[in-house]
Amino acid sequence: MKKHNFSPGPCILPQSVFEKASQAVLDYEGVGLSILEMSHRSKEFVEVMERAKSLALEHLGLQGKGYQALFLQGGASTQFLMVAYNLLENKAAYLNTGTWANKAIKEAKLFGEVVEVASSKEANFNYIPKNYSVPSDVDYFHCTSNNTIFGTQMKQLPDTDAPIVCDMSSDIFSRQMDFSKFGLIYAGAQKNMGPAGATLVVVKEDILGKVSRVIPSMLDYKIHIGKDSMFNTPPAFAVYVSMLTLEWLKDQGGIAGIESVNNAKAELLYNEIDRNPLFVGFAAEEDRSPMNATFNLTDESVKDRFDSLWQEANINGISGHRSVGGYRASMYNALPLSSVQVLVDVMREAERIS
Ligand SMILES: *Cc1c(COP(=O)(O)O)cnc(C)c1O
Repeated sequence: MKKHNFSPGPCILPQSVFEKASQAVLDYEGVGLSILEMSHRSKEFVEVMERAKSLALEHLGLQGKGYQALFLQGGASTQFLMVAYNLLENKAAYLNTGTWANKAIKEAKLFGEVVEVASSKEANFNYIPKNYSVPSDVDYFHCTSNNTIFGTQMKQLPDTDAPIVCDMSSDIFSRQMDFSKFGLIYAGAQKNMGPAGATLVVVKEDILGKVSRVIPSMLDYKIHIGKDSMFNTPPAFAVYVSMLTLEWLKDQGGIAGIESVNNAKAELLYNEIDRNPLFVGFAAEEDRSPMNATFNLTDESVKDRFDSLWQEANINGISGHRSVGGYRASMYNALPLSSVQVLVDVMREAERIS
């Protein structure tokens, strides 16, 4: 039986995408070849890559605005260094909102001066710092839109003329924003877009080419743009499944359509966390993420009972990250509202029998 999958990543994808992808593994659109054995230079795969890139830009409202979409490898973690390699000449500003932001800062320090404009470390990153300012002389400002581990999400961007670089790994394509405010957006596919193995980078071309260092080819955005994400063999299957997911998103009414479902799911779960005396939310209320809800038990003695209840209800993936403990329910785009209802019912049952 299909589980209610709240896994933080790799994560649930739409059932129709799983079905189409399985068919393509056997025979891609009747051409007599599996998607896994087709040349990435074939007409069929070049079309997949072009469609994936154009759907990504279309969903973000960035078509014809000087942006390029790239499907690369190495995960968001490679972007931590690639961003700095390509954009950091002297100084960059970073907002420290948790584990992933920290890792990005560590890599950037290899390339230049890093100003940490604010941090919520003292509170184990349970909120998003506000009222900080970004120095005017930085090459870019880097932030993490959604903190997958801590369950916080940025609702506002700072005022700055510097290009804004954003790690959107865990909330890309989940909510409407003015994406033209960003100079560069990156995301590992496996949180909201597709299987592990592909990394989406959306970059405004005019921010590139300003550093004096020599950039190795594989790490140079300009090289990848010039070769249409085919400088070397791309992660073909991961790009294909990402494309299917972006098509599915279009059928859901795009980002606007899925955002209303995401808000309904988040409201259902957070209302229960707040109502039920057995649970307490981890993240500050105004910074709560609709993608990853973090919560703890108020009474550890009911842990075993609650854990067996959700396991019996066929729920998967709600154990919290070791740096927060407790529980984390990840509610990415493809998770249906009905799965959240199952979790809420289990929380009520735990209260009833406690
Ligand atoms: C998961 C995650 C990462 C790491 O992604 P990889 O693709 O595994 O390198 C980075 N940033 C955020 C916000 C994440 O959620």
